[in-house]
Amino acid sequence: MIQPGSWLGILGGGQLGRMFTQAAQSMGYRVAVLDPDPSSPGGRISDKHLVTEYDNLRGLKELARVSSAVTTEFENVPADSLRTLSDLLPVSPQADAVEVAQDRIREKTFLSKNGFRVAPYAVFNDLNDVANLSKSLVFPGLLKVSRFGYDGKGQLLIKDLTELISGFKNLGRVPCVFEEFLSLTAEVSVIVARDERGDTAVFPVSENRHRNGILDITIAPARIPLSILSEAKQEALALGDALRYKGILCVEFFVLDGGALVINEIAPRPHNSGHYTIDACSVSQFEQQVRVTSGLPLINPRQHSSAVMVNLLGDSWDNGEPDWNSILKDDRIRLHLYGKDEARPGRKMGHLTIVDPDLDQALNLSRQIKTLLGKQ
Ligand code: AMP
Repeated sequence: MIQPGSWLGILGGGQLGRMFTQAAQSMGYRVAVLDPDPSSPGGRISDKHLVTEYDNLRGLKELARVSSAVTTEFENVPADSLRTLSDLLPVSPQADAVEVAQDRIREKTFLSKNGFRVAPYAVFNDLNDVANLSKSLVFPGLLKVSRFGYDGKGQLLIKDLTELISGFKNLGRVPCVFEEFLSLTAEVSVIVARDERGDTAVFPVSENRHRNGILDITIAPARIPLSILSEAKQEALALGDALRYKGILCVEFFVLDGGALVINEIAPRPHNSGHYTIDACSVSQFEQQVRVTSGLPLINPRQHSSAVMVNLLGDSWDNGEPDWNSILKDDRIRLHLYGKDEARPGRKMGHLTIVDPDLDQALNLSRQIKTLLGKQ
């Protein structure tokens, strides 16, 4: 076990790295962040910020020298960097699991092989594949780049073969998956913490609503039947076992008409849909990440209040700062800003969590807040 007071390292200093750093520091750890951006949200508040690329050997060695264990906040960190680090100190999650999560083709192959349901899909590596598979495709569908897509980026809605061919070209002819467009009743996610011993702790299932491909609000607990909630939790835990996972794992599900669950994607890290845990649960997803990283015991999260998390996008800064005075009058609202200098459209600047014992009241307030936030 790595005692509080020791140093923990993290690859990535975005908002997830920042909230990990805050959780670790409040437990007495010191945190080294490796992120190439000198003003990264996590780097700014860290005890040591290593400003290097993620594959810079000197930077990685320095991170290993100062830290007692290392984790990551994003899936696009080069798996080889995690491998290099794991020769030197404990690393979670492990490179093999991150490699699966960072590539949609690998991810879907792994999930299908291990008996998890995914949306029907086809893999395209080049235009020949598109031509060869065209007869078996069902339209409409979504064409998604296999790597480096996020928040709906690198993704196109396709209604026929002509659009598929032009879409594949527009996405740069990179490896893609083409997924059947499913009719969804809800989107939910489950966050699991799993440690080296295989001990697990699972957070309440949350319900996620997206706008323009970006998470807009999270409602917790999810308003879906109990049987589906428990099936989602069981699947997420089974997936953690299948990956022999160590760390925080988020599993995003589609709930289809009729109640069947399909895994959309997985994230090998804390997730935007788990931010509500900071204010509404006995332990947050970030504290749980600190616990896995340092070998402390996991605790079973208990949700002490219903919650709605509202993402704050840069669009709300179009006419200057949002009206915090009006928004923060209500004592059910907790504000989290990530310390980003520049507000750009679609950029995640922070989030608000509304906590209320009555979920409907929290939802009502979230609607009022969204009006105050203006277009976003
Ligand atoms: P993703 O980046 O894959 O999580 O996709 C972003 C959002 O697009 C999802 O949260 C869904 O709202 C929607 N979406 C993605 N794939 C599908 C699909 N196969 N069928 C219906 N909606 C989808």
